Amino acid sequence: MAKILLVLYPDSVTGYPPKYARDSIPVLDSYPDGQTLPSPSVIDFTPGALLGSVSGELGLRRFLEAAGHELVVTSDKDGPNSVFERELASADIVISQPFWPAYLTAERIAKAPKLKLAITAGIGSDHVDLDAAISHGITVVEETYSNSISVAEHAVMQVLALVRNYLPSHEWVVNGGWNIADSVERAYDLEGMNVGVIAAGRIGRAVLRRLAPFDVRLHYTDKNRLSPEIERELGLTFHPDAASLVRAVDVVSIHAPLHPETYHLFDDALISSMKRGSYIVNTARAEITDRDAIVRALESGQLAGYAGDVWYPQPPAADHPWRTMPHNGMTPHVSGSTLSAQARYAAGTREILEDWFADRPIREEYLIVDGGQLAGVGAASYTAGGESSPGSGGK
Ligand code: NDP
Repeated sequence: MAKILLVLYPDSVTGYPPKYARDSIPVLDSYPDGQTLPSPSVIDFTPGALLGSVSGELGLRRFLEAAGHELVVTSDKDGPNSVFERELASADIVISQPFWPAYLTAERIAKAPKLKLAITAGIGSDHVDLDAAISHGITVVEETYSNSISVAEHAVMQVLALVRNYLPSHEWVVNGGWNIADSVERAYDLEGMNVGVIAAGRIGRAVLRRLAPFDVRLHYTDKNRLSPEIERELGLTFHPDAASLVRAVDVVSIHAPLHPETYHLFDDALISSMKRGSYIVNTARAEITDRDAIVRALESGQLAGYAGDVWYPQPPAADHPWRTMPHNGMTPHVSGSTLSAQARYAAGTREILEDWFADRPIREEYLIVDGGQLAGVGAASYTAGGESSPGSGGK
């Protein structure tokens, strides 16, 4: 029997369960590329319920306890005295979400002799030291596509929010004002602007597709070029690297994984090569940008706005400069954890666990590390080694 350590974000301050705004969520047939939705033997939670917080337990308790496994759920994940660190010593499986990541550093992995499986409920396994996972024979998996469209919608929303100066305008009405000049003095149309994405994977492509109807000029860079058909359909200009792309655009949306090649890609030098008054939206990973370079560029006016939902570390300190830097549209890490997305990645987690316990292969598209090497989507998206590994000191 296995011990499963599940790290989830805390419940709402208003209590659990919340009062839901809607009674159901749409039922999808498949993901945009035809990949099938998660298919566990049974879904015994309510799709649309808050599953990602501690009391939601990703809907797993009944299933796991009926099979005789032990489930420990906590949100206490940081520091040597945390529940996570204490329970990790005897855990066989760790599950956590990127929104509230249980950092599986090399040091922590060394103290977890029984650990065999690390599941990311969602997408993005950079909170796991992949080199340490490889050398300790730990399988790392995530639920590819489960929240890609959720993130793409958030990124498009934040592009519009920044360019149109939505949040400051909203603040004026909430505070009893009607300050039109104050609201519009930083407001533009997106129409006609050059908009680029860094990485045209599942999320990046969805962002391009959603922005095309806004009559913008679309650009992208990626390690591999998209097909000529997609480039033609969306009117895309390809750039061989980020340096070329950022010089050509007004708005950049970042959708690459965090790995050594992308760590601190947006530093002072790259940002200073952008047009004055550019916007950056980053829903990928915070450390793809240099935290203080972003603040400096917003203060100097080199950047007109920065938005996103990813921070480092998570949760950020109360005095993290991105909370108060000018012209920011930051949210907590929420884009991939809508109630709609939670239903998919909770089902994906159960599917993975069912396969693991039955000794069946886990879907290739969920694998990041397996059999002591990068595997599946991990082999395509990540590189082993380097300074972006959590706890490696390269932050
Ligand atoms: P995909 O694997 O579908 O796409 C990633 C793309 O990035 C691939 O096309 C890959 O290239 C490309 N890429 C990798 N390295 C580079 C590089 N150095 N320069 C340019 N392109 C590069 O992932 P998703 O689109 O599903 O997700 C992207 C990232 O978004 C995740 O890694 C995660 O960090 C983040 N994310 C954030 C969420 C949130 O809630 N905010 C939720 C989900 C994901 P190729 O395959 O061609 O080699």
